[in-house]
Amino acid sequence: MSLQDIRARVDRAAAAAGRPPASVTLVAVSKVQPADRVRAVLETGHRTFGENRVQEADGKWPAFRAEFGVVELHLLGPLQSNKLGRALELFDVIHSLDRDKLAQRLADAVQARGRCPTLFAQVNTGREPQKAGLDPEAIDAFVAACRTRYHLPLFGLMAIPPADEDPAPHFEALRAMAERNGLPGLSMGMSADFETAIAHGATHVRVGSALFGTRD
Ligand SMILES: *Cc1c(COP(=O)(O)O)cnc(C)c1O
Repeated sequence: MSLQDIRARVDRAAAAAGRPPASVTLVAVSKVQPADRVRAVLETGHRTFGENRVQEADGKWPAFRAEFGVVELHLLGPLQSNKLGRALELFDVIHSLDRDKLAQRLADAVQARGRCPTLFAQVNTGREPQKAGLDPEAIDAFVAACRTRYHLPLFGLMAIPPADEDPAPHFEALRAMAERNGLPGLSMGMSADFETAIAHGATHVRVGSALFGTRD
């Protein structure tokens, strides 16, 4: 489906929820996609992309940025402390902050650089053992620690609901966690469920396969 078609669906879902289209950022998830597909989306003028891995992003985005200019890059996958320095050079937004040790390291790196990316804390709303993210009951304390202990300004929360469940209750739970913590950002919704996520307040939807085609 073209970028234009996806954006039209995002706009319709926003309108149906009584929200302005500009309140939803469409993150084009380009992980593992061939360069020509990514290039085609860049040529439409889209400039907001998501990647899962620091190393993979490092292999392709410096060249795309040299060619296409400013691109807002979002890190969606788990972040290892040893990749933090490079991650901060590549990414404008990090969706996967999920533990105190990483927050402490990030705080130190941000202080040294004087520049902080936009930050989402990831919540494992389905409590799946194989999935990254904070447990739902840990989120309030983590947000408080980011504010008072690490002085890291969190923008919002991110979740990936279990693949085999109705995502709506997970989106609603994430919305409630963000609201009670005074966080404006909600990164939720992927190819299969971004319209549902928008109905539940998503500010950032992360769409890969619906836009680029299935990943090999
Ligand atoms: C791969 C991925 C996406 C995109 O998934 P699609 O189903 O292809 O849209 C979104 N968010 C995260 C965290 C991902 O890893």
